[in-house]
Amino acid sequence: MKIILFDIDGTLVKAGGAGARALNHAVEALTGHKDACSAVQLQGATDKANFENAYRVGAGRKPTKKELAVLVRKYVDRLPLEVSASVKARKYRKVKGVEKFLEKLSKQKGVLLGLGTGNLKDGAFIKLEPSGLLRHFAFGGYGCDSHHRSVVLRKAVERAGKLAGTAVKERDVFVIGDTHRDAEAAKEAGYHSGIVLDGFGDREAILRSNPELIAKDFLNLKPWLIWLGLVKDPGGVSRGTYICPDSPIEHAHYGRTGLDIRDIELNMRKLREAKRKAAGK
Ligand SMILES: [Mg+2]
Repeated sequence: MKIILFDIDGTLVKAGGAGARALNHAVEALTGHKDACSAVQLQGATDKANFENAYRVGAGRKPTKKELAVLVRKYVDRLPLEVSASVKARKYRKVKGVEKFLEKLSKQKGVLLGLGTGNLKDGAFIKLEPSGLLRHFAFGGYGCDSHHRSVVLRKAVERAGKLAGTAVKERDVFVIGDTHRDAEAAKEAGYHSGIVLDGFGDREAILRSNPELIAKDFLNLKPWLIWLGLVKDPGGVSRGTYICPDSPIEHAHYGRTGLDIRDIELNMRKLREAKRKAAGK
């Protein structure tokens, strides 16, 4: 049984800033402070942490439990309106290729798809609603489970285990996200990590977090399916030893080598250049 966990923002959909607008609205209603989110780094963090930080910007102190509960309610009440505003303004979109990817994965035997997101459960469902992608997910770990993404992921896996009626091994869990925080949380929990660049992540930070797979989007599914172990690699040998036909160096893109990917890319460019020269092109 393989468990594949998807982050939401920047991995499945881009909601055109709906979450930040809804949170701004909620903070303003409670503290009078406008645009609190502009002072908070929201991407890749859990909602719980974002709500506390945004409230702190508005009120100059941590919210009490009661205030936090009101803030959450106001956010969740406002979110559908902000999501539909994004849809109307054509700022809500799915990450390239994700729909086909999910359809393919949903048909695979022995694969369970879940959410591994910093969003509160209610917020996650509201954000995904217009995408039509929700039907692919049977369970999830959410921002209401913990401040810590790795705990959110573990919670999702625990739920997957209950659903499947079997214990899940760490090596069978694959986490797909768009920021270095997704990769770090996956590693902390002992799971595989793949990052899509077409989201909100900072590229430098993503490279430093050293996920097993980095891909631009989901338009070319081959690297994703090889990484997930669902497609045999073209070299006919196992993942992480040799995959790409171009040079033995390239396999490092797909395997876990501990090497800095920028050095690998530089060497690949040099190698291709040398090959071109040797071929007289
Ligand atoms: Mg994200």
